Amino acid sequence: MRPFSIAIHGGAGILTRGMMNSQQEAAYLSGINEALDAGYALLEKGANASEAIVAAVTRLEDCPLFNAGKGSVFTAEGTHEMDASIMEGATRRAGAVAMVTGIKNPILLARDVMEHSAHVLLAGQGAMAFAAQRNYQILPPSYFYDQFRYDQWQELKGSDKTQLDHVASDRKFGTVGAVACDIRGNIAAATSTGGMTNKKFGRIGDSPIIGSGTYANNQTCAISCTGSGEFFIRGAAAYDVSCLIEHCQLDLQTACDEVIKKRLLALGGDGGLIAVNAKAEVCFSFNTEGMYRGYRCSDGASYAAIYVD
Ligand code: ASP
Repeated sequence: MRPFSIAIHGGAGILTRGMMNSQQEAAYLSGINEALDAGYALLEKGANASEAIVAAVTRLEDCPLFNAGKGSVFTAEGTHEMDASIMEGATRRAGAVAMVTGIKNPILLARDVMEHSAHVLLAGQGAMAFAAQRNYQILPPSYFYDQFRYDQWQELKGSDKTQLDHVASDRKFGTVGAVACDIRGNIAAATSTGGMTNKKFGRIGDSPIIGSGTYANNQTCAISCTGSGEFFIRGAAAYDVSCLIEHCQLDLQTACDEVIKKRLLALGGDGGLIAVNAKAEVCFSFNTEGMYRGYRCSDGASYAAIYVD
């Protein structure tokens, strides 16, 4: 049987040992492991990489610890505007949504854009009209409410400042993402986020931008990013990793480190990514103090971590 694997992230940022007590650490690690279990169980049964990553990301969206789905950050207007995307490496089909509200699992809507529309990215009212056509239930703001996120917003409300989870003084970071390689050697990537606290003017980050926050090509890699989205967009970060593999023959880890630890840093951006290739090799790269992350491989390797090793 061909090897298969899945890797996930729950955001990168200022995550240093001693910031959290052991109960908080255990809660994050259990959130990571539950998402990995959900995706891995499907891969074991022969499911496609895209099914596995959607299963993992929906779990992370449902977990209020992470900034995606339930637990998304507040916009300047006190709402939750979520972005998500998915891409398949075999076909390079992709789907994404931006600025959606009231959708429990934006990653499912992104997948529907890929599978049931002629488009790649739908935003705002249009994305909501598409959701209505697909019979999505619209949940009340109370479903997405999280006291910590609300307090985070109160600190910035009325100002022109926005804030990434990643630089917040507390620990609840967390755009989420997953990448997987299935038993047929097909790879896929998905990312989902609430974006930045106090964002306005229809700000959209890198997460729903194919080539920036998410990318997949069976010939190179599948990537999901997290961090200061504007820099990932300017660097076309996810596609840049793919290009370094395709055109410069870099190996997966070297290509990821080149983009995250050199090119993104040179622009002034912070964050990280997860990656997988069609040989089921997985890797992480981040230029922050930590990143919620984990993987599971068919050779038995299993890993979940928060801080720099
Ligand atoms: N990259 C996301 C954005 O800029 C935020 C994050 O990764 O937490 O919207």
